[in-house]
Amino acid sequence: MVIKMYYLDHVEIKKLTKDLIPRSRENPVDERLRGWNWFNSPVRPYSSSLLLPVWDVACSICPTRRDAWIRNKILKKSVPTTKQQAKGFIIHKLISSMFIKAKKLVYLGEKNLKEKLIEESKKALKNEIENMKKFVEIREDELLDFCEKIIEWQASRIESSVYETTAKYPFLNEESLVQMAFPIATEMVVDGSLLGLSRYLRMDAASIFSGIIFDIKLGKKEEWHRIQVAGYALAFESFFERPIDIGCTVYVNYYRGNIRIERDFYIIGDYLRSLFLEKRDELQMILLKDEEPRVADRCPKICMFKNKYCL
Ligand code: SF4
Repeated sequence: MVIKMYYLDHVEIKKLTKDLIPRSRENPVDERLRGWNWFNSPVRPYSSSLLLPVWDVACSICPTRRDAWIRNKILKKSVPTTKQQAKGFIIHKLISSMFIKAKKLVYLGEKNLKEKLIEESKKALKNEIENMKKFVEIREDELLDFCEKIIEWQASRIESSVYETTAKYPFLNEESLVQMAFPIATEMVVDGSLLGLSRYLRMDAASIFSGIIFDIKLGKKEEWHRIQVAGYALAFESFFERPIDIGCTVYVNYYRGNIRIERDFYIIGDYLRSLFLEKRDELQMILLKDEEPRVADRCPKICMFKNKYCL
């Protein structure tokens, strides 16, 4: 399948249709934990005036949540806490911007889709890395190599998706071609303010018809990755009043010089929803109290705020 980042393979389709989806129906989400119940506890936010990014709520690098406090009160920017997150930010932007660029090129009737996409994406990548270097020291050569591989790989798949669609439906106009070749909504924006979340929540991708939200991550699996997707699902439900029962975290990694993609599918059930809501309330309370969280007794080594903000 093309645009492999989000398209499912044969085994994944079987697992979804024969296992995950039936299980999510047999054991439905507690209505009280659906996003459309935003005006009642426990979904109702502690505060509607302090709006938080889903990422900031879910990611727990600092034991006292001081990292979120630094971001929200001092830096007032979504600055990553670890180098891994910094790389993840860049790869996130890179992948989603490629879909946007590709759609624009299809509308413009560009024939050399792959070439043009690679050229534009490589330029944009350099700017992204330069921007990130203002906050984080990153090994540029290694990251550049990895990202360029993603660009080439992704561009080939996008181009073949467009070619396949055109070969099958040669009379499509640009609008229909974009819809058929890119059936997943990428960079979907949802207003999360009903839940005390940002007004411009950007999800990496969502398949609205099958009720799946996708999120791209780098590195190994961590529990907060699923909690983050639960946050997006709640926000989606509060805004569109449609259920989202399945989440998928797409892990993009480098393995022996090649791109490795793994997808983790799961039910966004009561447990993940409750964890997200607890974390949201806890963070809102910390930030509204206006009391600086103390420096943690044992800081994870990967936290980059140590020498600057937590002496
Ligand atoms: S250095 Fe320690 S206290 Fe400061 S944000 Fe990082 S983990 Fe928290």
